Amino acid sequence: MINRSKGQYSGAREAFALWQQQPDLVYLDSAASCQVPEIVLQRYLDYYRGEHANAHRGAYPMAQHATELLEQARSYLARWLGTDATQLVFTAGATHSLNLLAQGLRIDWQPGDELVVSRAEHHANFLPWQRLAEQHQLALRWLDLDPTTGQLPDDWAEVIGPRCKLVAVTLASNITGQVLPVQAICQRARSVGAISCVDAAQAVSALPIDVTSLGCDALTFSAHKMYGVTGCGVLYAATSLQSQLDPAWLGGGMVAQVTPSASQWLAGVQKYEAGTPNTAAVVACAEAAKWLEEQRQLGLGDYVQKLADDCVVELRKRPWLKVLPRPSAALPLFSFFAPAIHAFDIASFLAEQNIAVRAGSHCAQPLLSHWQHEAVVRVSFGAYNTPADCERLLAALDEAYQLFI
Ligand code: PLP
Repeated sequence: MINRSKGQYSGAREAFALWQQQPDLVYLDSAASCQVPEIVLQRYLDYYRGEHANAHRGAYPMAQHATELLEQARSYLARWLGTDATQLVFTAGATHSLNLLAQGLRIDWQPGDELVVSRAEHHANFLPWQRLAEQHQLALRWLDLDPTTGQLPDDWAEVIGPRCKLVAVTLASNITGQVLPVQAICQRARSVGAISCVDAAQAVSALPIDVTSLGCDALTFSAHKMYGVTGCGVLYAATSLQSQLDPAWLGGGMVAQVTPSASQWLAGVQKYEAGTPNTAAVVACAEAAKWLEEQRQLGLGDYVQKLADDCVVELRKRPWLKVLPRPSAALPLFSFFAPAIHAFDIASFLAEQNIAVRAGSHCAQPLLSHWQHEAVVRVSFGAYNTPADCERLLAALDEAYQLFI
């Protein structure tokens, strides 16, 4: 049985309209996308109902207001991340940001220069670098994770050597939830003169982030992973990095002057934001960050962590299931597999019971194939989950065991 403690923070399910419509739903797929609290949805709709105009374009009051909203959101989110608005770019999501970086970096790559990635990278923080490596004949080097402990080896720093030009690392694995020692990795990157790029897509909903103390050159996440809406990403690009980063996309809103012979980009972060900004999603992202911050103050972090930890304890009592390594510093998510039942069969069986989990390679094939897996089941928690959700999951898994084995 999962412990239920009284009088403490007990989640925020009432903040989500979804459970009024579907009270029976057990949603354990927040690592893919969080559900959106009503207050955030309301902010999004309010923007479209009475405040919508094309930001950074018109001189009339609504257009100016939209510009103000966009820039207020930028300032708020920048402060939230420990930086300032001159270093915060809005994108369409983490994937978009990482491609922007890989395509825009202006570095004098020499054949044999090295890019270091961790084995835990999501494809979004691997494929853009793999392509860059192919284009410039760079060597890709791996920060490996031990298949038993999930940890980096003690001598990981040696992988980041004098020929390393860039380190791309996730703040936490989307498969095991393991939090990587990113501050130390960024410090090591800096010591050899390499750029550090941090993927915070998974970590952002669970961990407070301060880019200054992390010491990274770039960091990104998607709003839909932190209770915002889809179509919005945040990219921190340090001022020092911006001097080496060209805009990857060109178009309206990012130019100072266009002439038939040559054009000039705007000086600030707007040069990375070609095209009409998604102001509604950006405003909703800032609202989501405020909401998340309030929930954190109330105890959200410990609450979801305990849900995940308790669930893992119970799962480990079932010998037919194997939980992937889950070091003590982990996000509120975990993955497991059953040697005798395919991950997709487990997920389909759970879906029939109205329990939403995700099965597959989770866009993290480098890690899974290195650990000799094709597919695992991932369970991830959010502010709306309760101990009863864990109990439903465990009971359904016990039924699956009876059915399949
Ligand atoms: N990085 C990590 C660690 C992720 O988990 C994800 C999404 O699952 C991404 C990047 C890509 O995010 P998006 O699809 O929102 O661009």
